[in-house]
Amino acid sequence: MLKQRELRTIVVVGSSLAGLRACETLRQEGFAGEIALIGAEAEIPYDRPPLSKKVLAGEWDADRIRLRKPDDFAGLALDLRLGSAAVALDVAARVVTLADGSKLPFDGLVIATGATPRRLPGQPDLDGVVELRTLANSIALRDRIADGAARVTVIGAGFIGLEVAATARQRGCVVTVLEGAAAPLIRGLGAEMGTAVAAVHTRHGVDLRCGVSVAGIEGDGTCVTGVRLADGYFVESDVVVVGVGVAPATQWLAESGLLLGDGIVCDATLQTSAPGIYAAGDCARWPNAVFAGFDDEEMRIEHWTNAAEQGAAAARNMLAVARGETPTPYESVPFFWSDQFDSRIQFVGRAHGGDEIHVFAGDLSGDFAALYGFAGRLRGVLAVNMPRLVMPFRALIAAHATWSEALEKAEQRA
Ligand SMILES: Cc1cc2nc3c(=O)[nH]c(=O)nc-3n(C[C@H](O)[C@H](O)[C@H](O)COP(=O)(O)OP(=O)(O)OC[C@H]3O[C@@H](n4cnc5c(N)ncnc54)[C@H](O)[C@@H]3O)c2cc1C
Repeated sequence: MLKQRELRTIVVVGSSLAGLRACETLRQEGFAGEIALIGAEAEIPYDRPPLSKKVLAGEWDADRIRLRKPDDFAGLALDLRLGSAAVALDVAARVVTLADGSKLPFDGLVIATGATPRRLPGQPDLDGVVELRTLANSIALRDRIADGAARVTVIGAGFIGLEVAATARQRGCVVTVLEGAAAPLIRGLGAEMGTAVAAVHTRHGVDLRCGVSVAGIEGDGTCVTGVRLADGYFVESDVVVVGVGVAPATQWLAESGLLLGDGIVCDATLQTSAPGIYAAGDCARWPNAVFAGFDDEEMRIEHWTNAAEQGAAAARNMLAVARGETPTPYESVPFFWSDQFDSRIQFVGRAHGGDEIHVFAGDLSGDFAALYGFAGRLRGVLAVNMPRLVMPFRALIAAHATWSEALEKAEQRA
């Protein structure tokens, strides 16, 4: 166990939401030693959700989404190293190596490197084939769709793909979404809900093609020309957005000896397999005791609230252990939102395709709220444009409410 006197230098790798929250919490909790914050991107930390919404729509500029104003960084007294990725971690020597060759020794380390977009097998590097994860990606795509004349094809009807489709359509573009499953979001939310989300898009003129298989992206050698489907159909496109999910950004840890497995494997307190090294945000996998007894207790979450909460929790636990105190398990009910056209989708908890679903307010053709249950317990709540009906259930899920308790509460609320 680390002793307090040994915790002089803390390195935080990943200068986005989870990493910045870790730094802020370390200072709020009174840590006065050195903190180095390492970022692969040269940008001052910024918020990602607007990248597929207000920034892509051209309504907000980059300054509007900074997580902290450039001048505010002085108060945190960070050794801020932006534009140079960490490329290696030596757990035994307790040193992080950066791409520019510098070596940073640490007593404590928080890894918050997030996630990076997956590529399609054989994806060609053509002008017009894009992904959306960074501010640079968003600005480049914004410029391509700004005049509303582009034919935009989105591969993958996940949340980000659907948000891009909605924003591009609202700018006047011709938009096609290609999805392999029978409806969007089936694995996460089930077929009924996926169909309801699909209806929102088709109502707004998105050509949503589900149950299709992409054979390949085609081009003229320089620029993309379209997407070929397995049945031979060709979707002519000026822009192809590949939105087929993300993978945890852990390649740089491959030789470190840290336990990895679809994310950095952590214990309940967010400590990795090495003492004094913690992980937080999209890259972290940990057992979430709220969901003990379900089939998905160990999880990795790719949502804003989780990254913010975990960055703070990892920092607090690192300091607690250093003080000789008992660290606190990170137990939380995940929450996310997504804006698509005039629909604000909000979700608390977890859900899987086969869960029991009970719509308790509204109906699936418009705004609604629904419970998700599994093994006799409440597991999640989904609402479209009914914010009042979501958050009260967060506490109920945390309290391991039974399905019948949830039904009763839903009846009172509706
Ligand atoms: C377009 C878009 C829209 C979204 N919309 C929503 C939404 O509506 N609601 C919601 O709940 N969530 C949304 N999210 C998800 C949310 O933004 C993420 O869950 C959150 O950003 C995760 O924060 P993080 O700090 O864990 O990782 P990230 O934000 O991915 O940050 C990781 C940082 O680490 C850096 N990094 C990676 N590798 C290295 C390395 N080796 N060395 C140094 N630095 C490195 C990266 O460059 C990056 O800056 C959205 C995400 C995107 C991309």
